[in-house]
Amino acid sequence: MLKLPENFENYEEARREGFLKVKDLKEKGVPVVGIFCTYTPMELIHAAGAVAVSLCGTSNGPIHYAEKDLPRNLCPLIKSSYGEAASEKCPYFYFADLLVGETTCDGKKKMYEILNELKPIHVMHLPQGQEPDHAFAYWKEELVRLKEKLEEFFDVKITDEILREEIKERNRERKILMDFYELGKLNPSPISGSEINETMEALGFQFDRNAQCEFIAERTKELRNKYEKELKGSKSDKPRILVTGCPVNGVRDKILRTIEDSGASIVAFENCSGVREKIRLADEDIDPIDSLTQKYLDINCSVMTPNPRRFKDLDEMIDEYEVDAVIEIVLQACHTFNIEAHNVKQFVTEWKQKPYLYIETDYSELDVGQINTRINALLEMI
Ligand code: SF4
Ligand code: SF4
Repeated sequence: MLKLPENFENYEEARREGFLKVKDLKEKGVPVVGIFCTYTPMELIHAAGAVAVSLCGTSNGPIHYAEKDLPRNLCPLIKSSYGEAASEKCPYFYFADLLVGETTCDGKKKMYEILNELKPIHVMHLPQGQEPDHAFAYWKEELVRLKEKLEEFFDVKITDEILREEIKERNRERKILMDFYELGKLNPSPISGSEINETMEALGFQFDRNAQCEFIAERTKELRNKYEKELKGSKSDKPRILVTGCPVNGVRDKILRTIEDSGASIVAFENCSGVREKIRLADEDIDPIDSLTQKYLDINCSVMTPNPRRFKDLDEMIDEYEVDAVIEIVLQACHTFNIEAHNVKQFVTEWKQKPYLYIETDYSELDVGQINTRINALLEMI
């Protein structure tokens, strides 16, 4: 049985424990693949017998290392990820045998060229849109290329049979994680958004996938029982917030906690720190590469143009989670989310008739006061 920190209050603790686990895996000969994005087809990595570890930087500390090689005016997530690697302080980067990236935004794909000087990286070429017929064929070719790369690099054979098993397994994990996220649909919600976010992040540093699922299913059951026994039928005057936009793990304390400390309840995350990848399952009944091609192509992200699935997901989530207001968090210099925010604001305020707040930020503490004021002003309006 996996031992997890009491209630994941301490994300850093989970990260530190993860270092020892990954070292242990390496000593047993298990390959490690470093990843950076939700578009990475995890089933292929697992089918190669490897574990995947996210190398997305979430702290401000390593950014000054990155700024020696990268422009300052770049998204903090990219700078932090590169800085973790360049500073040689990230054991996860150190233990990774191979990195897998995707040509998502310009900043990331150009950063990968420099990162390749430190560690071998296989970059998948992501289509820029989901609608045209050729996007499927193009992306399928990229999945085949990744499969071949993993086979050659780790000297393994990824059979259709193994892939089908991995697809089933990953779908099972997605359903369990979706049940956990969907606790936010209960009103009042039995869990804070910060706990949801921290729990999911901490899970990324555990590598026993069965134990992860068991833990999350158990926690979901506990919280559902708590709702049935203590909360059902009671009224909460906390505004229910949906968070959308860029990944938010690097601004958890600065923004997520501030929203909740100011008296609101974050009930939903429409972003890569939330349901974005889990909302659609992979088809278990078709050719496994076709299934994964479609599954990952269907993920909504502002790097796609156009990006209609994001508005479909927002539409359904605002209703299903009984959302009172939407807060969009955009990391500085993230052009795609920044520009798409224009349409998101319009959609939220005009179509859904809900208040909307746009926050552009980085990983520093410089804007803490201003963010506090703006969040409080939004909540007073509701
Ligand atoms: S926001 Fe887009 S580019 Fe960033 S991790 Fe998510 S899917 Fe990848
Ligand atoms: S937040 Fe935006 S700029 Fe930063 S890595 Fe993701 S898509 Fe790129």
